[in-house]
Amino acid sequence: MSLKGQVAMVTGASRGIGRAIALQLAARGAALVVTATTLEAARHTAEEIEQAGGKALALKVDVSVGAEVEGLFKEALAAFGRLDILVNNAGITKDGLLLRMKEADWDAVMDVNLKGAFNCTREAAKVMSKARYGRIVNVSSVVGEMGNPGQANYCASKAGMIGLTKSVAKELARRNVTANAVTPGFIETDMTRDLSDKAREALLEQIPMARLGSGDDIAAAVLFLVSAGASYITGHVLSVNGGMYM
Ligand code: NAD
Repeated sequence: MSLKGQVAMVTGASRGIGRAIALQLAARGAALVVTATTLEAARHTAEEIEQAGGKALALKVDVSVGAEVEGLFKEALAAFGRLDILVNNAGITKDGLLLRMKEADWDAVMDVNLKGAFNCTREAAKVMSKARYGRIVNVSSVVGEMGNPGQANYCASKAGMIGLTKSVAKELARRNVTANAVTPGFIETDMTRDLSDKAREALLEQIPMARLGSGDDIAAAVLFLVSAGASYITGHVLSVNGGMYM
C-alpha cells in the first residue's frame, strides 16, 4: 500500500496513538502535518519521520479553538498545497463521578475531543470537497460505545464523535470523501500508563484477548480506512479492542 503523493494531518501526534498513526502513514509515503499543543512536542514526531526519510511539518494548535484550527489549515495548505487524509486523534480525559464532576471538566473534554474534531473536519471538508477526494478518520473510543463509570464527559464526547462521523459521511459521500471512526479499547499510552496494578488487573479481565492494545494496532486500522481497498466504506465504526466490546 502506497500513500505517495498524499498529504495527511494527524492531530495530537506528539505521542501515543497519534504518534503511531503519523509514523505509519509516513512510512507508506504520505507527507505529514504533525500537530500537538506545543511546537516542541510536534517537532519530536516530525523529526522522527524526517530521520526515516519522510516529509513532515510540525505545527502547534489547540484544536478546541476554531481560529487556531483555521490558521493551522492555512499553514498546512501553504506548505503542501493539498490535504488527502485527516485523522482527528487529539483527546483528553478529566475523569470524575457524575455527582462530583465540575462543569469546567465537562466543557474541557467536550471542547477538545468533540468540538476539536468538528473544527478540523469543517476545515478539511472545504479542501476535500473541492478536490473530490478525502479520507477522514476519527479516533473515538470503546467507552463511547459502552459507557464507563467516572467518564461521563469523555464517553459523551466519544459517542458524539460517532454521530459526527456518520453525519459527515452522509454529507460528503457524493464528493468522494469518506468519514469513518475507530474505537480503540484500552491501549498502552500515557493515558493508561498511570493505572494502578489493581485497576489494570480488573481491566484485563474485561478483555478476551487479555492484553492491552498498542498504538500500532490502532494505526493499522487507520491505514486500512485510508487505503484504496476501503474506498466504498464510509460511516463505519471499526472496533479495535481485543474483543472487549462486540
Ligand atoms: P495521549 O494523552 O498520549 O496523547 C494525546 C494527544 O492529544 C497529545 O499529542 C496531546 O498533545 C494532544 N492534545 C491534547 N489536547 C489537545 C488540544 N487541545 N489540541 C490539540 N492537541 C491536543 O493520548 P492517547 O492515549 O495517545 O490517545 C489518543 C486518542 O485516542 C485520544 O483521542 C484518546 O481519547 C483516544 N483513545 C485512547 C485510548 C487509550 O487507551 N489510550 C483508548 C481509546 C481512545
